[in-house]
Amino acid sequence: MSLRRSQRLKDLKTPKAAIDAKARSETARVSEQRVQGRRRGGLKLKDMFSDMPTDIIHESRLAILTTPADVYLGYFVSSATNLLSLSRISKTFHAFLFKKSSADYWKRALKTIERAPPCPQWLIEPAFIALILFPVCMACGKKRPAPVYWAFLMRICDSCKPRLVIDQYELLDSDRICAIPRTILNLGRVTRYGRAYCLRDEAREAIHAWKTFSKDEDTEALDRYIEEKSERIKELSDFQSLCLVWLENEEALRARERDRLQKERYQFIISKLQALGFEPELQRLQQNRMTVLSNHTLVRVPELLTDRSWRTIQGELVKLMQSLRTSRLAYEAELEKKSKATARKRTLRKRT
Ligand SMILES: [Zn+2]
Repeated sequence: MSLRRSQRLKDLKTPKAAIDAKARSETARVSEQRVQGRRRGGLKLKDMFSDMPTDIIHESRLAILTTPADVYLGYFVSSATNLLSLSRISKTFHAFLFKKSSADYWKRALKTIERAPPCPQWLIEPAFIALILFPVCMACGKKRPAPVYWAFLMRICDSCKPRLVIDQYELLDSDRICAIPRTILNLGRVTRYGRAYCLRDEAREAIHAWKTFSKDEDTEALDRYIEEKSERIKELSDFQSLCLVWLENEEALRARERDRLQKERYQFIISKLQALGFEPELQRLQQNRMTVLSNHTLVRVPELLTDRSWRTIQGELVKLMQSLRTSRLAYEAELEKKSKATARKRTLRKRT
C-alpha cells in the first residue's frame, strides 16, 4: 500500500474526516484524476491551476493533495480571492462550492473582505465576491480593467461600454421622453459623483412599458408598474451608494497607508545616509527644498526597508548623494573664490 493511500485511510478514521467524508471522497477522486491526467498526458496539473494566482499555486497543490476537504477549504475561506480561484479550478470544484451546503464557505470568505457591505438579498455570496474581486468584464469575459457598475451588478470594460450603456441625458434627449419618471430608470455609476448611465436593454424595456401604459391610459396599471419598478431601482441605488462609499473609504485608507509607508521608508533612508556622512548634503536638500532624493523612484515606494533590502538600493542612492556632494563642494569652492576676490579688491581699494 502506498504511503499516500495509507495516510488517506488513516485520515478517514478521524472524526473530522468522517464529518466531511463525502467531500473528502470527492476531493480524493479529483486529486487522483488530476494525477492520472498528468501520467496519461491528459489534463495537466498546471492547467487545473491556470486561473489561480501563482503565489498560492504551490500551497494549493499541497493542500489539495494531502489534507482533508474541511481542512483545506478552511484554508481557502481565509481569503475570498483564494476561494473564488478554487471554484474556478475545475467543474468539480465549481459544482461542489456552488452547492447550497457550501454557502457557509462563501459567507466566511466574504467576511475576510474588510469592511465590505453586506451581501444584498438578491445576490448569492459567490456572485457578490466575484463582483468585488474578479477583474473580468462580464460582457466580453476578458481580463482587462472593467469598473463595477454596482446598480447593474456588472463589471463593464471600456470596449463593451458603448454597446451596453447609454448616458442618461443622451437617452432622455434621444427618445424624447422628458416626462418619464426618473425613478424607473436604473442609473449606474462607477464613482459617487460620476456620470450616470442606463443599461440600454433595461432602459428600452422601462420606456416601452411606460409608453404602453400611458398610451392605454391605464392609470392603475401604470401606477402599479411605476411603484414596483421604483422600489426595485431604489434598492439597487441604495446598494450602489453603499458600495461606492465603501470603495471611497477603502481607497482613502489605502492612500493613508501608502503615505505612512513612504514616510517611514524615507526616514529610514535618511538615517542610513546620515550614518554614511551625507548630513551636509541632506541639509542642503532641505534648505533648498530640493526633491531629487524624496522623489527618487527608489525612495517613493510604499514599502518598508530592512537592512537587507537597503543594501540592494544603497549603491544607487549613495551615487546620487556623491554627485550632490561634488556639486556642493564645487559651489562652496566657488563661493570661497568669490569671497577671496572680494577681499582682495577691498585691500587694493584701501591701498589706493
Ligand atoms: Zn468587455
